[in-house]
Amino acid sequence: MPKPMKITGRSSSITNAFINSIIPVVPPTEDEIEEALAILGMTADTIACAYCGDTASEWDHLRPLVKAQRPTGFISEIRNLVPSCGKCNQSKGNKDWESWMRSAARLSPSSRRTLGMEARIEKLKQYEAWGTAAQVDLKSVVGNDLWDRHWQNWQRVLEEMRQSQALADEINKIIRHAYRNP
Ligand SMILES: [Zn+2]
Repeated sequence: MPKPMKITGRSSSITNAFINSIIPVVPPTEDEIEEALAILGMTADTIACAYCGDTASEWDHLRPLVKAQRPTGFISEIRNLVPSCGKCNQSKGNKDWESWMRSAARLSPSSRRTLGMEARIEKLKQYEAWGTAAQVDLKSVVGNDLWDRHWQNWQRVLEEMRQSQALADEINKIIRHAYRNP
C-alpha cells in the first residue's frame, strides 16, 4: 500500500542540500587522474574499485564530506576521490574508510572476504598522504557572518516545513472526513 507522504519527510534531503551546496567540486586534469591512478597501482585500462578490486563504476570520497550533519572541510576533488564500485560506495557511507574496510558492515570488503585487502589498504594510505592539505576550516574561511546566516537559513527552511506539514495535516483530515461523509 502507498504510504502517506509528509513534507517533513524531505528534511534529510534538505539538510544534504544545505551541506553539499557549499562544497566545491573541482574537476581534475587528465594528468591528475593519471597520477591518482598510479598511486593506486592502476591505469585507465586497469581501473578498479580501490576498496575491493571489483569493477569500478563511480568515484567515492575517501574521507567523508559530511559528518554529524555538518561539512567536514574535505571537498570534492581528486585527492579525496578514489574509484569505487557501487557496493562499496553504498556500504561505506560517511564512515572512516579503513575501519569500514576491516569491519563486518554489510557489503564491506572484509565481510565479502575480498582478496588482497591489506595491499589495498597500504595503497589507500599512500593516497591519503598525497592529499593531506585538502581539509579546509570552512567556518574561518567563510567568516562567522555568512556561515551563521547559512545555517540559520537551514533552520528556517526546516521550521517552515514543520509549519507547512501541520497545515497539510489539517487539510488531509478535512479531505478524509469529506470522503467518509459524502
Ligand atoms: Zn568495491
